[in-house]
Amino acid sequence: MLLYSFGIFLLSISNLAAQAQCGAHQALLQNLSEKEIQDFHQKNNEQLDEWLQNSSNFIKNRSVVTLPVVVHVVYHEDEENISDEQIFSQIDILNKDFRALNCQVPKVEEPFKELIADIEFEFCLATIDPDGNPTNGITRTWSRIPFFDCNSDFLYKKANGGADAWDTKRYINIWVAKLGPVVGGSTLGCGTFPNSTDSTKQGITVNYWAFGSEGPVIYPNHLGRTATHEMGHFFNLRHVFANGAPADPCEDDHDNIPDTPAQDRSYSQQCPNGKKFSCGTQDMYMNFMNYTADACMAMFTKGQKERAWATLNVFRPELLQSNACSAQSTTEQFEFELGPNPALDFFTIKIKSSSHRAGQLKVFDPSGKMVIYEPYQPINVPISLTSIQSGLYFVEFSCGELRSLTKLVKI
Ligand SMILES: [Zn+2]
Repeated sequence: MLLYSFGIFLLSISNLAAQAQCGAHQALLQNLSEKEIQDFHQKNNEQLDEWLQNSSNFIKNRSVVTLPVVVHVVYHEDEENISDEQIFSQIDILNKDFRALNCQVPKVEEPFKELIADIEFEFCLATIDPDGNPTNGITRTWSRIPFFDCNSDFLYKKANGGADAWDTKRYINIWVAKLGPVVGGSTLGCGTFPNSTDSTKQGITVNYWAFGSEGPVIYPNHLGRTATHEMGHFFNLRHVFANGAPADPCEDDHDNIPDTPAQDRSYSQQCPNGKKFSCGTQDMYMNFMNYTADACMAMFTKGQKERAWATLNVFRPELLQSNACSAQSTTEQFEFELGPNPALDFFTIKIKSSSHRAGQLKVFDPSGKMVIYEPYQPINVPISLTSIQSGLYFVEFSCGELRSLTKLVKI
């Protein structure tokens, strides 16, 4: 273990020579001028502001949501074909960061401590693929291409040597690949803002050596914060510092979020100590939307939380309805149908929208008496009706708290 840590340290020496960057803003620059990018963000912000003004009840009553994720591993060399464990470590980090449960949170001091937000998003690897089949939420694709660029189509198209997205309305797509060098450094990852690209590229992309906290990760990007940062972009959060070379880097409010003070620097790969100031205010260098080294990032703010929730509801609402995740999902639908109905000798349970493949079955007659009981009934397996008389019945199918009821006619 010690030797391995030393290996990470050695790798870091060469890596530190170049700046590592997030490519989210660069991706926008492919098609838009800096002015057009400002207009693009402004348009998104107006919609979010409107939603926030009209949603006080929703905000008061909301609860944690679980969002389904698919990880597309695209590799050329074996090392880039990262392990399941490395992927699990990243999902865990995303959950701890978006729930304010990471180990850096207690170290945040005033005045920022009171601004720390539990975003109340959780992430899980999808258990159902777009065709309705069971999955572990991971795809693996060997590519003839040795490295990729966030801004090109190659990574996002199977025909071009990458991996196609799963329905980007129902899944958060994460591509993990070797991202090639760019002028002045290397790209750690990139995330798409809502409406910033066509739907087949919506999601986040992370360099394989900056993904999770196990395997071939490289210090100081070895604790999975690249994905946290890019997921922030996916939910429309912008950098705390101003991108590019703005006329006034201290212009407030660059990110349209009142509780993140303006900064004139990105803290790229740095691990600052104590209080730092720029633009006349204390810098929140521990915010995930900086370029700070992984070990020194800690928090999202309450203002960022409001913006992320507004984005989920305004631009990505289908994720709230997605049933592609595991049973813990608080938003999971549990609908079933049965057939044939009317039935003569038997019927079967068919799931309309659920990841469950079995459940508890009860059949009641009109007086409420239970006439059939199966504690664990798989779907698509016939249930005999020979023991009951013709008439109207009620069928209850349940799994834990999830429950559904429908009528059945026996002829
Ligand atoms: Zn970024």
